Amino acid sequence: MCGVIGLIGPQEIASSEDYWAAYDAYRGLLTLQHRGQDAAGVLTYDTMKKKYYGDKDLGLVAQVFQQKNLETLRGNLAIGHTRYATIGSDGKNDLQPMVMGFPIGMGMVHNGNIVNYFSLAKEMADKFGLHLLTNNDLELMMHVFCQGLLTNKSIDSTQVNLDDMKRAAKDLLVKAIGAYALVGTVAGIGLFGLRDPKGIRPLVLGKKTKNGKDIWCLTSETCALNFLGMEFVRDVAPGELVIIDENLQLHSFQIIEEKKKARCMFEWIYFAGAESSLEGRSVYGARLGLGQVLAKKAKLLIEDKTIIPDIVCPVPDTSRTASIALAESLGLPYREGLIKNRYTQRSFILNTQDKREKAVELKLSPVRSEIEGKNILLVDDSVVRGTTSRQIISLLKKHGAKQVTLAITCPPLRHGCFYGIDFPSDKDLIANGKDVPEIAKWVGADHVIYIDEQDLQDAIGLDGLCMACVTGEYPTSVTEALEFTQRRNEFKG
Ligand code: SF4
Repeated sequence: MCGVIGLIGPQEIASSEDYWAAYDAYRGLLTLQHRGQDAAGVLTYDTMKKKYYGDKDLGLVAQVFQQKNLETLRGNLAIGHTRYATIGSDGKNDLQPMVMGFPIGMGMVHNGNIVNYFSLAKEMADKFGLHLLTNNDLELMMHVFCQGLLTNKSIDSTQVNLDDMKRAAKDLLVKAIGAYALVGTVAGIGLFGLRDPKGIRPLVLGKKTKNGKDIWCLTSETCALNFLGMEFVRDVAPGELVIIDENLQLHSFQIIEEKKKARCMFEWIYFAGAESSLEGRSVYGARLGLGQVLAKKAKLLIEDKTIIPDIVCPVPDTSRTASIALAESLGLPYREGLIKNRYTQRSFILNTQDKREKAVELKLSPVRSEIEGKNILLVDDSVVRGTTSRQIISLLKKHGAKQVTLAITCPPLRHGCFYGIDFPSDKDLIANGKDVPEIAKWVGADHVIYIDEQDLQDAIGLDGLCMACVTGEYPTSVTEALEFTQRRNEFKG
């Protein structure tokens, strides 16, 4: 999971108070920081001078960019990325945006993972002699796109047009299997966005007008649009290519239309910012709904006196919204028994187990006055590896909690995700091969309550969701993904 953004506006007001592409990309990335904290980057393009400028590094957005380096990023078009590494873990070589200058000027960022990386890389090597220089699947996607652009063109005719873009997009959508929301720029064309045929990762389009001229934005979530003072235009459809050309005209092409969509349900549960809306469904509203369906499950246990909770307490921050709804539905006091240190990173998103365990120790402080002697209904958004839940429950009990019932706004995660989330191995998941009482025992809870698949779908209010990590029914072939995971693990050592 990563955050992506792309902006294009008029050349004549670029780098003015009204519009500064690099600065707006930077500000947008700040609001997408929750999607990835390993690295950040911005690439800009001056459509008049036909020149690229870029900077990227490991670290948080605000650590990578200061006024000094932002001022060097000129131009009226910018793409940006905030990285959560699933492959090529910490290497600087794999950072985004990626750019190529030949045979055509092109830059790209993406969010997701392709699951046929190795066979596609081999095909490109056999056919065109491609040597990949990084471990990032974006590099491969750029080459596939580039080949699609230049097919049928002579070497001295590299000027591309919209038909070439459509052909390249189709080539990529057919060949690259998996999840990807791409934002890119092709010299002479403008800004473009492309979403995989299942729509697994989100991409939205926004716009604002300054001095009668349009400024367009393609980004992962609406929270970035809001922050930049842009109005939401619409979601980019699965399999759709959106282009905003250098004259700021919008073009849209439905390149591939698949009947079955598979939007990642985890966006509403955990990934997306609560203030965002995806596919017309408010993330905050979905989380309230998740709390309400969870309350129905908890009520059954309260009625038969299996649990007698005194308070509802969230694991901050994502589950706070659901906790409020659950407490309201059950008529129980809502209390914050754990306070989060705002200056540490989210634990699940960190990319090694060691880092995750240390992060839990650092990030949550118990409020003893609210915990001591209480039966706590503790709400969390998910249980992935189980180590975080175990540490939190142990912390609550150490500070005097009498009983802890762990209530989860997600069904048990029993299958790996190959679409850009760092839990690709079934064996890493605590719910794999365990029933609910066994999970409770492992994490040290007195009881564990999960919602079921139908509850989840009802709370989000959308058909066509990917729930593969719950059901094991993957929306694409995953045969090669298993190999992908194995090689990835070898790479990580
Ligand atoms: S497998 Fe799970 S986390 Fe991965 S895309 Fe599907 S729903 Fe999202």
